[in-house]
Amino acid sequence: MVEQKDQGGETLRFEAEVAKLLSLMVHSVYSNRDVFLRELISNAADACEKLRMKSLQQPDLLGDDPDFKIVLSADKDGGTLSIADNGIGMDRTELVENLGTIARSGTKAFLDGMTGGDGSALIGQFGVGFYSAFMVASSVEVVSRPAGSDEAWRWWSDGAGTFQLEPVPLEEAPARGTRVLLTLTDEAKTYAEQATIERVVAEYSAHVPVPIVLRIGGD
Ligand code: ADP
Ligand code: MG
Repeated sequence: MVEQKDQGGETLRFEAEVAKLLSLMVHSVYSNRDVFLRELISNAADACEKLRMKSLQQPDLLGDDPDFKIVLSADKDGGTLSIADNGIGMDRTELVENLGTIARSGTKAFLDGMTGGDGSALIGQFGVGFYSAFMVASSVEVVSRPAGSDEAWRWWSDGAGTFQLEPVPLEEAPARGTRVLLTLTDEAKTYAEQATIERVVAEYSAHVPVPIVLRIGGD
C-alpha cells in the first residue's frame, strides 16, 4: 500500500469503494451541499462524547481543558473553513482506517443507491459522513492528536485516489482532538461566510450537545 516514503511522510491509496465515493463527491453536482457541515460537526461532537465517556475512568485525559467545544474558523479571503474539536482525536492507524481504507457500511449502500439522480437525500440518509467534505473542498487536511498522546499526524487529500500522512510537530497540532481544514472550491466559497455558516448550523446542527464557536477572519 505504501507508494512513497520520505521524511516520515507517505502516500496511501484509498480503498476502492471509498475512492469511488470520493469521485462522486468531487464530480457530482448535488443540490444540497450544506450537509457536509452537519456531517463534520456531528463527527466533532461524537469525538467529544467519546472522550467524555473515556474520561469517566481516566479523568487526567482532560488535562486542564475539561470543557468540550467545537470551533469553526472561516477565512473568507483565503477561502478556507476549519472544524476543530477537543475530543478524543485519532492516532495514525485510526486516521488510515477511518479516513481511507475501511469502507463504512453506509458507503456501499450509498453507492448502490446512487445510480443516477441527486444524491443529497442519500447523503442524509446514509450519513456518508466525512467524505462529503469533498463536495465543497478541493483539498482536505486533518490534523489529529489523541487525548493523552504526544504524537500528532497530518492526513491530507485532494480526493483523487490517494491520501498523504505525515507526523506533525506538537507545536502545530491541537493540544488534543482533531482539526479538519477545508480549502473550499470556487463554487463553495460561500461556506467561508458568516451568514452561510450561521444559517447551515442553525438548520442542521441546532441540537448538537457541544457548544459551537464561530471565528471569522481566519486563525
Ligand atoms: P461515521 O461518523 O458514520 O462513523 P464518518 O465518515 O463521518 O462516519 O467518520 C468516519 C470515522 O472517522 C468516525 O467513525 C470516527 O471514528 C472517525 N472520525 C471522523 N471525524 C472525527 C473526529 N473529528 N474526531 C475523531 N474521530 C473522527
Ligand atoms: Mg460521521
